[in-house]
Amino acid sequence: MKVLEINHCNKKFGDNEVLKDISLSVSEGQVVSIIGPSGSGKSTLLRCATLLETMDGGDLIYLGNYAAKSDDNGVSSYVDENKLREIKKHFGLVFQNFNLFPHYSVMKNITEPPILIGKRPKEEVFAEARVLLAKMGLSEKEDAYPHQLSGGQQQRVSIARALAMKPKILFFDEPTSALDPELTGEILKVIKDLAAEHMTMVIVTHEMSFARDVSNHIIFMDGGVIVEEGAPEEVINNPKQERTKAFLGRFQ
Ligand code: ADP
Ligand code: MG
Repeated sequence: MKVLEINHCNKKFGDNEVLKDISLSVSEGQVVSIIGPSGSGKSTLLRCATLLETMDGGDLIYLGNYAAKSDDNGVSSYVDENKLREIKKHFGLVFQNFNLFPHYSVMKNITEPPILIGKRPKEEVFAEARVLLAKMGLSEKEDAYPHQLSGGQQQRVSIARALAMKPKILFFDEPTSALDPELTGEILKVIKDLAAEHMTMVIVTHEMSFARDVSNHIIFMDGGVIVEEGAPEEVINNPKQERTKAFLGRFQ
């Protein structure tokens, strides 16, 4: 079962072609990592996939349901708001900068979306949130506010918040880039645990050995195109393209 399919995605900002004919597909339980230099279009691709940006061209399909479809001229049109609202329930996004509501407690950050958007019963949502907080090692922090937490703790709250919506697929955009190196490991561990539970994920990361260990498939992007993709050991340990070799060389 394909959870996500993106076919021939194109995206411009003015004259700047940021995504050029990008296709990717993610099956249930798969972890796909996207690597590449700054400015290569990784965040824009995740933002198109999560409906924070509109594609100019291409198809976007969740679990067989079209969010956007290309016409004969390669121009995308999106389905109506009601259908998009349903599709948005299928995915979660974890940002580089946590994006927690600063004036909400940890508990409220996690429970507000399932209650307001998911229209789910409060008691059930709170009970599930406590299970998620325990899993993230944050049981003591449910009444804390984001500013009282370390970056690593804030990021674990934002992962719990995404999981509280019971997504079919989770996107991560450089989830450790805003963290001090000693806090990076705790977030990578959480993501590895989710992978072991067969959570379907798309992860933009600069952590190369993590990407190799956790992923089923790796995509290397540069200049808005997919330069190389394949099995993790192949792309990371034995890249074929010069641009991939040059990029990976920076991490050695
Ligand atoms: P990455 O995440 O790989 O660093 P981005 O997707 O953030 O790359 O950016 C790709 C290109 O798109 C860059 O040239 C960037 O300046 C441009 N870009 C991204 N977002 C916008 C925007 N909202 N408006 C204009 N240009 C943008
Ligand atoms: Mg980015």
